[in-house]
Amino acid sequence: MPPDSVPASRDQLQRRGLMFILSSPSGAGKTTVARSLLENDSDIRLSVSVTTRQPRPGEVDGRDYHFVTEAAFRRMVDDGELLEWAEVFGHLYGTPKAQIKAGLKAGQDFLFDIDWQGTQQLYQRMEVDVVRVFLLPPSIAALEERLRSRGSDSEDVVQYRMARARSEISHWDGYDYVVVNDDFDRCFAAVHGILKAERLRRARQTGLVDFVRGLMG
Ligand code: 5GP
Repeated sequence: MPPDSVPASRDQLQRRGLMFILSSPSGAGKTTVARSLLENDSDIRLSVSVTTRQPRPGEVDGRDYHFVTEAAFRRMVDDGELLEWAEVFGHLYGTPKAQIKAGLKAGQDFLFDIDWQGTQQLYQRMEVDVVRVFLLPPSIAALEERLRSRGSDSEDVVQYRMARARSEISHWDGYDYVVVNDDFDRCFAAVHGILKAERLRRARQTGLVDFVRGLMG
C-alpha cells in the first residue's frame, strides 16, 4: 500500500488536551497513582503549581513546584496569572494559567494534584476541558494504617490527618469518577482507562471533521 493511502491512525488526529484532576484524602494512594500515570503515559505531564510553602528535602524548584514568596504569589493573583488558587495547610497554592492554556491548545494533557477547592474553581472556569477523578480508600482502618505507617508522627498529628481526610472524603460527589483504591494495579488500570476514554470524546478531537471528510472522499 503506498504511504499516502495508509489511513491516519487515531493517534495522528489532532485533539485538544485535557485537564485530568486526581484528588483523594492523603493516604489513599494518590501520589503513587499519579507517579505511575506520568511514567506510563507520555502524553500527560504534571501541571506544576506555584506555592508559598518551603521546599521539602528532595523537591526541585520548577519540577515539583514553583516556590515563591507570598508577595510574588499575591502579585500573580492580582495580575490574573493563576487559573485557580487556594490556601491549604496555611500555605498558598495555585495553578499558573499561561502554560496550561498553550499546552491544551497543542494537545498536551495535564495532571493536576490539587485539592477540592481548586477542582471546583477549575471546573467553573474550564468545564469542558476538566476530568475529575477521586480516589477513595477501601476503609477508614486502611487509611489510618497508611497514615501511621508513614513514620514517626505523633498521635495528635495522625488524628489531625484523619480528621482532614474525613473532611476531604466529604467532597467525593464533586467528581466525575470515583475509584476505590483497594488494589493498586486495579486502581491504576481504572484511572488510566478513564484518561484514555476521555481523550476520545468527540468534542476534544479537533481533527475529526477533516479526518471524516477524508474518509468520505
Ligand atoms: P503539599 O504541600 O503536600 O505538596 O500539598 C498540600 C495540598 O495542596 C494537597 O492537597 C495538594 O493537592 C494541594 N495543592 C497542590 N497544588 C495545588 C494547586 O495548585 N491548587 C490547589 N487548589 N491545591 C493544590
